[in-house]
Amino acid sequence: MRYLILIALVQLTIVSCHGQSASPKKNNMSDTKNNNPVYSRKDSTKVAMSDEEWRKILPADVYYIARQKGTERPWTSKFEKFNEVGTYYCAACGNPLFKSDTKFESGCGWPSFYEPISKGSIIYTPDHSHGMERTEVQCGRCKAHLGHVFEDGPPPTGLRYCINGVILDFEKAKEVEKNYKEKKD
Ligand SMILES: [Zn+2]
Repeated sequence: MRYLILIALVQLTIVSCHGQSASPKKNNMSDTKNNNPVYSRKDSTKVAMSDEEWRKILPADVYYIARQKGTERPWTSKFEKFNEVGTYYCAACGNPLFKSDTKFESGCGWPSFYEPISKGSIIYTPDHSHGMERTEVQCGRCKAHLGHVFEDGPPPTGLRYCINGVILDFEKAKEVEKNYKEKKD
C-alpha cells in the first residue's frame, strides 16, 4: 500500500512538472522580426545602434526613413486610407506608437494621428531643415525618424502627427477587444 502511494506521488509530480513545461507558449510571430534582433513589441529597453548596424537589419525603405530622415512620397502609404481597428508599431524596433482610434483623415497624404499611445512612445526635436520651423517626431525607443507634428490637428489635442507609413507596422485588434469597443461606443 505504501508503495502504491509513493508511486502515485511520483506520478503526480511528473504530471505537474510536465503540466508546467507544457503551459501554452504564445507563438506570435509578429512580436519578432527575422534578421532584426532588437525588434520587440514588449521590450521597452532603449535601443542605441550605429547607422551601420541598422543598415544591416532594416529593409532599404525603412532605413531611408528611420535613419536618414527620409520622407515617403505622399499618398503612397497603404495606411493613408486605412480604418482597421488595432495598434501601430515602430517598424524598426516594435515600439507601440499609435492606436487606430486616434487616427484621422487629414488629407495631407500621410497617415495622421492626433495622439501617441503614451508620452514615452515619442521624442520631439526641433527641425530647422528645408527653411522651415517644424517639430520632428522620433520613436521613443530607437529614435527612428517617424515624421513631424503640427498644431492644426483635431480635438482633443489639436495636434496632427504626420507619419511616414513605411515606418509603421500595424496589428489588428483581437476580435474580443473589438467587440468590447463596439459595446462601449
Ligand atoms: Zn523604434
